[in-house]
Amino acid sequence: MALKFLSTSARSAPVSFFEAMIQGLAPDGGLYMPSKIPAPAKGFWEALPKLSFTEIAYNLARPWLSGELSDAQLTLAVEDAFHFEPELVHLHSNQFVLELFHGPTLAFKDFGARFMARLFSEVADRKEKTVHILVATSGDTGSAVAHGFYKVPGVKVFLLYPKGKVSKLQEMQMTTLGENITTLEVEGVFDDCQALVKRAFTDPELNSIVELSSANSINIARLLPQSFYYPFVIARLSEPFQTPPVFSVPSGNFGNLTGGLLANMMGMPIRRFIASTNRNDVIPRFLRGEKYSPAPSVQTPSNAMDVGNPSNFERILHLFEGDNEKLRERMWGYACSDQETFNTIRSLIQNHGYLACPHTAVGLWGAAQYQKSDPSGYPLVTLATAHPVKFRDVIEPETGVKIPVPERLERWLVKEKKSLPLNGGYEQFSELLRSGLE
Ligand SMILES: *Cc1c(COP(=O)(O)O)cnc(C)c1O
Repeated sequence: MALKFLSTSARSAPVSFFEAMIQGLAPDGGLYMPSKIPAPAKGFWEALPKLSFTEIAYNLARPWLSGELSDAQLTLAVEDAFHFEPELVHLHSNQFVLELFHGPTLAFKDFGARFMARLFSEVADRKEKTVHILVATSGDTGSAVAHGFYKVPGVKVFLLYPKGKVSKLQEMQMTTLGENITTLEVEGVFDDCQALVKRAFTDPELNSIVELSSANSINIARLLPQSFYYPFVIARLSEPFQTPPVFSVPSGNFGNLTGGLLANMMGMPIRRFIASTNRNDVIPRFLRGEKYSPAPSVQTPSNAMDVGNPSNFERILHLFEGDNEKLRERMWGYACSDQETFNTIRSLIQNHGYLACPHTAVGLWGAAQYQKSDPSGYPLVTLATAHPVKFRDVIEPETGVKIPVPERLERWLVKEKKSLPLNGGYEQFSELLRSGLE
């Protein structure tokens, strides 16, 4: 029987995985979650140490996509999406870094975006109309989505980004592709981009003409693949530990950490999660016992985590069925200052010769705080969410370390930028969608 997906607000009808993926947000404004967290086939967890990353991805995804894809289709989908792997790096003693930035745009968002793009291409195949995917982005999401969906038949992507507010590298990764990827350079800030996208989704006339969909981080099809790399750690650890791993997850919207909770509930033993944030600390405060109180975001060196009201918090509450005490036992949280972020980057270079991006540094700092209360016996794994080169503008002046740009990135910087200026507001935007312009 195919797995059903329900809204966390519980006021929408149950839907299939693909329906949940195409809708993005449920009609009642809630987020889609499976009616139960399905376990992989018998024997999977025992066989784990011998499995490749794509085998793990296949086995975990299989029950989620029952009735949607055949075994052969799913095999092709995971092999196509994941032509790169995570890398587990041993820092020292029980400390590890799980590098998730070896995909095409050098950030962990490649895992979610590529898997979702592959599934969208299956759906687009079965539809008559072209699917228009709208994404407002402040950087990493846009580049991962653009690369994931590049040349996917039946899909057109429209990325809206604030002019002058994304890094050069991020901009070039989004805007030089062309084909089915249209990038719109918006006069304004990220919120203006998001407002245009929201208005398009709620414009009945536009929706009657064009098929609109979203690829933002609340999409269930981006969430599921973020559970695949947690078990991969078990497949790669060479020495045994007395107890299961602790994961420190540098977090903003908490999609990555929610992926870990899913892996845990699908059967992977995990000792604890560390919610590592920058000064945007609503979750660490909640975990310490305070009331949940979203706040406007503040700007930090780990800007992909500058989130004041994490969108996946609702999913986390849903997974714990409102039992805050159980949640606070499973998940501990620490908020890192800007100064501590830079100190961590410097001391990692000095003591271990390891260069971390500011997001990863926040995670490693959180891991160090945690270890003061729970000293040993387990592997302590910090997720590395981006390649440091993506943030060299931030790292170089603070650390004095020169970060060479890998050759495959240099290539992007000399290509032709193809974005369209968007300063005519919603009229111009909806006209563009209607006209089917490339
Ligand atoms: C998006 C992002 C994060 C935050 O991930 P969430 O799933 O939103 O918590 C952390 N680091 C980097 C580099 C990112 O791009």
